Amino acid sequence: MLKLSQYGDVIRIDSARTLAGRGYYWSTAYWVDGLLIDTGCAHSAKELVDALDGKKLQSIANTHTHEDHIGANGELQEKRKGLEILAHSMALPVLENPSGAQPFQLYRRVMWGRPKPSKGKSVKDGEVIKTVQYSFKVIYTPGHSPDHICLYEQEQGWLFTGDLFVGGKDRALRKGYNIWQIIVSLKKVIGLPLSVMYPGSAQVRDNPKEALENKIQYLEETGERVIEMRKKGMSVKAIVREVFGGQMLIEFMTLGHFTRSNLVRSYLSPKNLL
Ligand SMILES: [Zn+2]
Repeated sequence: MLKLSQYGDVIRIDSARTLAGRGYYWSTAYWVDGLLIDTGCAHSAKELVDALDGKKLQSIANTHTHEDHIGANGELQEKRKGLEILAHSMALPVLENPSGAQPFQLYRRVMWGRPKPSKGKSVKDGEVIKTVQYSFKVIYTPGHSPDHICLYEQEQGWLFTGDLFVGGKDRALRKGYNIWQIIVSLKKVIGLPLSVMYPGSAQVRDNPKEALENKIQYLEETGERVIEMRKKGMSVKAIVREVFGGQMLIEFMTLGHFTRSNLVRSYLSPKNLL
């Protein structure tokens, strides 16, 4: 299922798996002036190809390689010969082998589907992707994944955050995310002059500074609490209960891959402490 909405020259494309006529596990891509930022989930890949039929498509930029952001890469590259897919250098092996180069548990296949392989071209931090009307600066923002980038249109003050900024108060995390690195990356983008923030899985924000400040403050305060409790000798399990409360639906749905204890462990992991 696709849902399109327009913000001036930016088209927001929400994609989801359709079950009994309803959409589930939404993720967001954006089309602006021929640049497609992310491609949604594999379950809606064909719909996205059809929706873009006859529309200018100069290139794709992937913010990162999680399956809900690269789902239609393969189909689009098949349909439009020579279509360039731009991503961080660490993303390229994953694009070529999306379900082999990263753990691809059952819930990920069920929720978002298995993306087809695609061929990417690397872009570096600071590089600029130009369309006819706009220029998008690549900002390397690891933490949510090691290959994560944001795109920044300086003249307009637009920031396309991928999953660096996720709405709400995080209470669970997947293994492999680095929460301290996420905070550093959030601090990197909050220093930019911003007017609108276009996230990969949350509402478009016309108060980006405030939203980013609130997120950083929440994550830092939570991290400080977690570390304090650990210093007092509390177990991960006890910290989880104290800080994040009872069990979450997502923990069941992801068969224990997306959990409160992963978030606590990410705060406490010595290799994550910067
Ligand atoms: Zn992601």
